[in-house]
Amino acid sequence: TKAIADVLQQLGIKELNPAYSTGLNWGGENNKTTRDIYSPADGNLIAGVNMATADDYEQVVKTAQAAFKVWRTVPAPKRGEIVRQIGNKLREHKEALGKLVSYEMGKILQEGLGEVQEMIDICDFAVGLSRQLHGYTMHSERPQHRMYEQYHPLGIVGVISAFNFPVAVWSWNAMLAAVCGDVTIWKPSEKTPLTAIACQHIIRDVLADNELPEGIFSVIIGDAEIGSLMAHDTRVPLVSATGSTRMGKKVGEAVGARLGKSLLELGGNNAIIITENADIEMALRAVVFGAVGTCGQRCTSTRRLIIHENVFDQVRDRLLKIYPNLPIGHPLSDTTLVGPLIDKDAVKAFQNALQEVQKEGGKLLIGGEVLEGEQYATGTYVTPAIVEAENHYHMVQEETFAPILYLIRYSGDVENAIDIQNGVKQGLSSSIFSTNMLETEAFLSHWGSDCGIANVNIGTSGAEIGGAFGGEKDTGGGRESGSDAWRIYMRRQTNTINYSRELPLAQGIKFDI
Ligand code: NAD
Repeated sequence: TKAIADVLQQLGIKELNPAYSTGLNWGGENNKTTRDIYSPADGNLIAGVNMATADDYEQVVKTAQAAFKVWRTVPAPKRGEIVRQIGNKLREHKEALGKLVSYEMGKILQEGLGEVQEMIDICDFAVGLSRQLHGYTMHSERPQHRMYEQYHPLGIVGVISAFNFPVAVWSWNAMLAAVCGDVTIWKPSEKTPLTAIACQHIIRDVLADNELPEGIFSVIIGDAEIGSLMAHDTRVPLVSATGSTRMGKKVGEAVGARLGKSLLELGGNNAIIITENADIEMALRAVVFGAVGTCGQRCTSTRRLIIHENVFDQVRDRLLKIYPNLPIGHPLSDTTLVGPLIDKDAVKAFQNALQEVQKEGGKLLIGGEVLEGEQYATGTYVTPAIVEAENHYHMVQEETFAPILYLIRYSGDVENAIDIQNGVKQGLSSSIFSTNMLETEAFLSHWGSDCGIANVNIGTSGAEIGGAFGGEKDTGGGRESGSDAWRIYMRRQTNTINYSRELPLAQGIKFDI
């Protein structure tokens, strides 16, 4: 508790048990509805937050609108300079923020630190990007005319984020949006508001040092209702929403109805194909990290393993040797590899999925228990499960946000494995383990994986920020982070300039008056 108190102190969340924040930017000025935040690691109350009302939301939008008027006039490379300073502040606070991520969300410390590193990396990426927001130039069909296109800031970008990456996903959006000249309003998951408040503290100092308005980055702590206000609000031209497909459909519908832009990053049902030509030991390392890392709570977690029948028994038997030795425990302990699930509802969903899949014919090979004892008193620690199953089972088709790995057998050519891999509604991440080039190229071809991410001899999780991140089908179609994902944060404008004294019309039209 002392260590966590120090972390909160360093991140500006001063009072413990409970510290109800009252600042405008994290909501709750007008309302006394509070939410206590307990750690899934040990069940301790970390702090409490005020939940924002519709009135708070109005105030935050007005603050953001005013800040946009200032921010859009700052040259993009100067905006990049502010993001560079934010990256440096995150470097200073990496240890503390990483610990808080781990304690509030339950992922192991290595992953908490990795998440903050991802924020630092996206800052670096955005700084470079701030000098590269370029469009094309074109040759005009008219003499002494010039055509080019520019990208301008959009305005307010609403960011709705999920509990499992409580800070990184926000930074992917907010840092790109910032160099693009936008301001952001962040509604973090109501399950992990403290890390969001910590980020706001870090950022606030940078903005104050540069005499810039805090409304360039706003945080509003609220539940789905606040997210829904944002989705319906025409003052928010872009809503970037990360979370379940159920949520994404609602947000996408609301934003679409007002012809706004949405960037949707939704659920996955990710598979690794292991062919008979795979380096099995290498594949196993990727499978275990993908299936049990973050206790199966990554959008890119490995949920299905599609194994050639000739190596099926070998892979299954090796996994059954590895799983009993997985160190499950407190996420801040150095030796732990598997932390807790986020809450008891997640545990129920895990148990329910295992029951249902067994009714359909699935064979539970290992795991599925809720751990008991002093160390596991929260009731949120489970043993990761492996189930032999078939792809068409109802539960295999769904994303259960927990460590369940379905083993699916295939025979014949890699095309059969690809059909199974593509035979789900979601389309986020996919991977193949094979040393046979004919198989790996088929997997990457236009009749191969239908996912937004397709890897060869790498697992499904742990993407680098340099690539565009996102998926197809029920995953929502959005792309964020690297490559040219920045374009969605800007509006595109085509300009034609006449530097002659004539006024020729396009398409050769004559219109003499
Ligand atoms: P969730 O859908 O329950 O909540 C996500 C966010 O949406 C929260 O901030 C929540 O308050 C908000 N929300 C919920 N209903 C809303 C509505 N009707 N209108 C507006 N906002 C609403 O998801 P979760 O349990 O926090 O996260 C797990 C899910 O997120 C999984 O499905 C996972 O795959 C997905 N995820 C996807 C990605 C990706 O990049 N594709 C990344 C992380 C998580």
